[in-house]
Amino acid sequence: MRLLLETWLETCPENLENWVIQQKDVKMTQQVQRSKSKLAFEEASKVIPGGVNSPVRAFRSVDGDPVFISRAKGSRVWDIDGNEYIDYVGSWGPAIVGHAHDEVLSAVFAVARNGITFGAPTELETKLAYSVLNYVPSMDMVRFVSSGTEACMSVLRVARAFTQRSKIIKFEGCYHGHGDMLLVKAGSGAATMGVPDSPGVPSGTASDTLTVAYNDLGAVAAMFEMYPNEIAALIIEPIVGNSGFIRPVPGFLEGLRALCDQFGALLIFDEVMTGFRVGLGGVQKLHGIKPDLTCLGKVIGGGMPLAAYGGRRDVMSKVAPSGPVYQAGTLSGNPVAVTCGLKTLEIVSQPQFFSILTTRTKMLIDGLKDSAQKNGIPFCADSEGGMFGFFFQNGPVKNFADAKKSDVTQFKKFFWGMLNRGVYLAPSAFEAGFVSAAHTEQDIAKTISLAFDVMKGL
Ligand SMILES: *Cc1c(COP(=O)(O)O)cnc(C)c1O
Repeated sequence: MRLLLETWLETCPENLENWVIQQKDVKMTQQVQRSKSKLAFEEASKVIPGGVNSPVRAFRSVDGDPVFISRAKGSRVWDIDGNEYIDYVGSWGPAIVGHAHDEVLSAVFAVARNGITFGAPTELETKLAYSVLNYVPSMDMVRFVSSGTEACMSVLRVARAFTQRSKIIKFEGCYHGHGDMLLVKAGSGAATMGVPDSPGVPSGTASDTLTVAYNDLGAVAAMFEMYPNEIAALIIEPIVGNSGFIRPVPGFLEGLRALCDQFGALLIFDEVMTGFRVGLGGVQKLHGIKPDLTCLGKVIGGGMPLAAYGGRRDVMSKVAPSGPVYQAGTLSGNPVAVTCGLKTLEIVSQPQFFSILTTRTKMLIDGLKDSAQKNGIPFCADSEGGMFGFFFQNGPVKNFADAKKSDVTQFKKFFWGMLNRGVYLAPSAFEAGFVSAAHTEQDIAKTISLAFDVMKGL
């Protein structure tokens, strides 16, 4: 297969001049300076644990110091030293229409002028609810919260109350926020009882969390047979983004649906990352599967703190004040976050939005794969909609254990090579990447050519 860039240069000769200029930029950014970021990080570390407000931002898994950002626009972010980057983190998913989108900003400014939060209902919330239910038809009702963590914690409480059971099944390598019963990893290989991932999580809480390997339907069936009347719910990232990009094997999600039905457990799709990111209706739409409950976040807030959980009417009716399951939030559904979400959903639901985003993202991973192949580097990559991932190994990667077989040293070298050339990737070998509608074909072509350059030196 020919390098996409070559094709692109041939078909668009007028882009050549631009490209040559960009190459000059690249040479200049080789001596990239990040001294201000370094100082800012030292200052932050005195008063904020590890200098950051969310651990993966600290760059520890790539053995370095984080880049402090001053502003962002479209596909670009700039750090406080003035370096420019093509951004494939997108605030870890929300920035799907590109950073600081003019329409989103004007809607947010306009609503903020009338008050930021009231702690009383607004019509905007109902509007967003209808919009979400329209695109995610498995949801009859929805409750808005402020983070994906909150959505996942709350949805489990409701599922446990509804089924009057306490155990849950989750998958190794799937992240559902940092709620106590979800911060659990599996032992090596076989399915095990929950062991807390973090000090401070009572072992009693974690022991109700059963963990199995992703894509292992047999292990899930065995778990259900072991605890036939005790499992309240099974929660899953229907395409994984939190141990790199991992796809469900054919029949896996269907199999989970059947097992949940057979054993009277609720099927929960955590689409905090995939919702409005892989396509309008999330993974459930792509696979034609109806979960009982769904969690949403990231894109639905368009960059504001907003998330949601919802699903079957009979289950959601248990939530206070219509039912006895308590869940509340001072800032839940505040007009600013809701408006940001509404405007973002309006943009992503325009015709062609996802087909263009999908093509761009595919162009990126095809180019990366091609660059790796030409340089003889074991590499695999995959994407769906505007979400992608890659591993430095031949694959296939079907679960977290497979993912961990990747060459992390090579990833780190690649990460720094790209960063120093002006491409900002997630600072971990086990995170997904995100393309936005603001990423042009030229951005993608430039990224591929820089990746080729970096891979040549690996
Ligand atoms: C990001 C994420 C969460 C947690 O959301 P926060 O808003 O960071 O609390 C939960 N589940 C999935 C699948 C996620 O990707």
